Amino acid sequence: MSAFIDKVRITVKAGDGGGGAVAFHREKYVAAGGPDGGDGGNGGSVVLRVDDNLSTLMDFRYKRKYAAPAGMNGEGGRRKGKSGENLVIRVPRGTVVRDAETGGIVCDMSGDDDFVLAKGGRGGWGNSHFATPTRQVPRFAKAGLPGEARDVILELKLLADVGLVGFPNVGKSTLLSVTSNARPKIANYHFTTLFPNLGVIYVDEGVSFVMADIPGIIEGAAEGAGLGHDFLRHIDRCRLIVHVVDVSGSEDRDPVEDFEKINEELRAYSPELAERPMLVAANKVDLLPPDSDNLARLREYVTRRGYDFYEISAATTAGTRDLMKAVAGRLAQLPPVRVYEADYVKPLAEAGSVEDLKIERFDDVWSISGPWMERLLGDINFEDYESRMYFDRQLRRSGLFDRLESLGIEEGDTVSIYDLEFTYEK
Ligand code: GDP
Ligand code: MG
Repeated sequence: MSAFIDKVRITVKAGDGGGGAVAFHREKYVAAGGPDGGDGGNGGSVVLRVDDNLSTLMDFRYKRKYAAPAGMNGEGGRRKGKSGENLVIRVPRGTVVRDAETGGIVCDMSGDDDFVLAKGGRGGWGNSHFATPTRQVPRFAKAGLPGEARDVILELKLLADVGLVGFPNVGKSTLLSVTSNARPKIANYHFTTLFPNLGVIYVDEGVSFVMADIPGIIEGAAEGAGLGHDFLRHIDRCRLIVHVVDVSGSEDRDPVEDFEKINEELRAYSPELAERPMLVAANKVDLLPPDSDNLARLREYVTRRGYDFYEISAATTAGTRDLMKAVAGRLAQLPPVRVYEADYVKPLAEAGSVEDLKIERFDDVWSISGPWMERLLGDINFEDYESRMYFDRQLRRSGLFDRLESLGIEEGDTVSIYDLEFTYEK
């Protein structure tokens, strides 16, 4: 039996940018031709995409590391290096992505948009970029920037309007199968359901909803004592809970106790989930012994607590249609299925020490490189004013400009940092 996989940690790495080329155009009778080294290609990004043919995160079980290809180096003749292809990772709809370190939500893959999980590094400039009338023989080019790398946790949280909860064997799967297109496995033993099942229920023309049958919750499940705990996350998004209780007494259990135990599990897992609107369905009324007071006691107990109460037999389908109509009626008044807002903010790279930078001088061009500079540049969006100001502050703080001064930089010289160039001013 392969276990259902609905939470997994993966490592992704975008491709590094390719290096720029140092090359010179060669022609007969021309001693040193013009610089024509092309730029490096951009690294491929790692992109997440929803695939509705997937219903689990099983594919991630044995493959935990994903890397997009690097960009190729530039070549002579101003040939740009080929960019690395994006690596597309397909996930089931409803996959919530968290940052592995902080637990912050990076994105919720419940819509149709792709999400760039790790951005490829920009390619470095070839020396053809650095040709100016006064600087005819630029013998330098730039390295590409590194691609982003990160660890994330993927968690599948199904997109269902209604979640069925209840003890194992109470008839949840049967109820889903007789009311929807879903064909979950049904058997008379506990924990039959190892995979959450989704079914679409058509109540009326234009009125339908999605109901999820999750594996049985057992006592202690919220503390991780057994199956169920892992599955509760599938009903995190549900707008309404249908709590199924077996009132037949067929397993010598007390329906009121069962009802309370399951509610305790919900509370232990998430107080917020325990507050979700709930309907109660007393199932297996066809098996009810004539002398049993189970049904009456449960009805009394739950209605006193304000829940709507329904008697059904999933086996004979008695009462199931009325229940589904009531569910649709309640859903019409409830807010839509929850989508998780991203709350993870990537900390911006900061400047390190000027000692760790490599400073090279080529005539009037000062070329700066180093690992912290690469990280910093990778985080800067030069289209954005705030972002540029941040970059400027970081450079000042690092003492780079003081160092350049002491090395003899003059006003009007060029400062060249990867794919960024500016004229030095005091
Ligand atoms: P789940 O574990 O809650 O999903 O329960 P299942 O739907 O797998 O049902 C467990 C057993 O109870 C199966 O043998 C079903 O045929 C039986 N069952 C479910 N609902 C009813 C019902 O209303 N009446 C009777 N007599 N049996 C039922
Ligand atoms: Mg089941």
